[in-house]
Amino acid sequence: MKAMHKTIVCLLVAGVLVFSGCAEKKKTEYLIATDTTFAPFEFEDSKGNFVGIDMDLLAAIAEDQGFTYQIQVLGFNAAVQSLESRQSDGVIAGMSITEERKKKFDFSDPYFDSGVVMGIAESNNDIKSYSDLSGKKVALKTGTEGAMFAESIMNTYGFTVIYFEDSANMYEEVKRGSSAACFEDYPVLGYAVSQGIGLKIVTERERGSSYGFAVNKGLNGELLSKFNAGLANLRANGKYQEILDTYIKTN
Ligand code: GLN
Repeated sequence: MKAMHKTIVCLLVAGVLVFSGCAEKKKTEYLIATDTTFAPFEFEDSKGNFVGIDMDLLAAIAEDQGFTYQIQVLGFNAAVQSLESRQSDGVIAGMSITEERKKKFDFSDPYFDSGVVMGIAESNNDIKSYSDLSGKKVALKTGTEGAMFAESIMNTYGFTVIYFEDSANMYEEVKRGSSAACFEDYPVLGYAVSQGIGLKIVTERERGSSYGFAVNKGLNGELLSKFNAGLANLRANGKYQEILDTYIKTN
């Protein structure tokens, strides 16, 4: 009788362990959405690998915190929408922490400082300030902080806008002269200029928000805590700086 009792207790304990083990596993595989091309944060390298500061940071944080994830390469606006509609658990896409977005999303600690700059074609010597955009067309990337800044000054300076879903097509539009300028985050446009993309920056940088990892408000607090804890560890052990140095060469 006593032995049988023991067996039942053991089976129960085993059952609970297996059950909680499964539940735990489910929670540690996250779907993380990102942009298609936003170098040096996420982009395809010459070997066809999807790399960048965001990708390396996330990989190192996941390793440090012991969770697994799948990356969904959707484009910036689509990534934000997929998070909002709960089709993904988080977004890492050089996403600026803005007051507006904080109403819908919870953000991690900031991991990179940004700001918005204007880009014009390298061959363009006519545009020296926002006033020179009067009567002209400006290329913007849907749903970005750069677009929001341009929209806030378009009436003052009298320009019209056209939207693109990714940075590459927006740059192309300006390079071929179809639009006079574009507005983009300075670490990204600065990187593109340094890579000889055919654009240049002639105005000062506007104040902008830092980048953060986003999850839906009130959901996935666990993932957010892990991200913050991992980020703090990477800052402390030098890995964070090592990742930045891989993509941003300062001399
Ligand atoms: N940092 C900008 C924003 O959050 C642009 C992000 C992006 O294009 N991937 O709006």
